[in-house]
Amino acid sequence: MSVVIAFANQKGGVGKTTTTVSVAAGAAERGVRVLLVDADPQANSTSALGCRPDGGSLYEVLAGRRRGADAVVATASPLLSLLPASGDLAGAAVELVAQTSREHRLRLALEGVRADYDLILIDCPPSLGLLTVNALVAADQVIVPVQCEYLALEGLGQLARTIELVRANLNPGLELLGVVLTMFDARTKLGRQVQQEVRRHFDSTFETAIPRSVRLAEAPSHGQPIQIYDRRSPGALAYESLVDELLGRLRLPRGGGR
Ligand code: ATP
Ligand code: MG
Repeated sequence: MSVVIAFANQKGGVGKTTTTVSVAAGAAERGVRVLLVDADPQANSTSALGCRPDGGSLYEVLAGRRRGADAVVATASPLLSLLPASGDLAGAAVELVAQTSREHRLRLALEGVRADYDLILIDCPPSLGLLTVNALVAADQVIVPVQCEYLALEGLGQLARTIELVRANLNPGLELLGVVLTMFDARTKLGRQVQQEVRRHFDSTFETAIPRSVRLAEAPSHGQPIQIYDRRSPGALAYESLVDELLGRLRLPRGGGR
């Protein structure tokens, strides 16, 4: 059975999408069968992979109008598939409020596809609303990307409480896999201070910090993950090392799925 990981932080622009897409593409290159679920109405992961929701998006799946497997699309990486988002997903967050098992919709939708993948990665929107709660209920593990800047820790208490509430009421098996430091600039004192502070608060912080890198910021506009856009860039190398750590923590073999 696959491992499901939600990439969550209600703070906007901290590197959730960049990390989800880069880890997804990196793991797929190691022979891991990956499904990326774009749970953000902004559909940034979907466009960063150069895809469009042709056969319907996660919106139809959550609304119960389409099976998860029917909405999955292929990407340029053979082992990486995508369950795409579209703008109307914003409406799903509102519509679901009145429906039964509203927090479990994504979990139920993924049950039908879990056997086809080793790793399912969910890119969450920048809020703690129903879409993120659906992701946390569907997930076995959470990864929290944290941007190395002033007030980096702000809001993490609230996120931790949400994870705790989901664990207590909806998904007892949910675990925090780790915190990923993003947009790290080792040359600035602030960057180094934030890194230390985050590591002090969270023992589970990954060893690898993702550096600020122009190539990482450029890749999405080409519809390519960093591994294809510029695999020798510092950002690509950092994500390669993060994938190593992550697969190690999950005890997933690197090269040739399970
Ligand atoms: P949102 O909350 O809106 O979904 P997010 O948390 O998914 O945002 P990203 O979209 O991954 O964050 O990143 C925000 C911006 O920063 C994007 O323009 C992205 O290209 C850029 N970015 C992310 N990581 C890096 C990095 N390591 N170096 C340089 N730019 C980066
Ligand atoms: Mg995003």
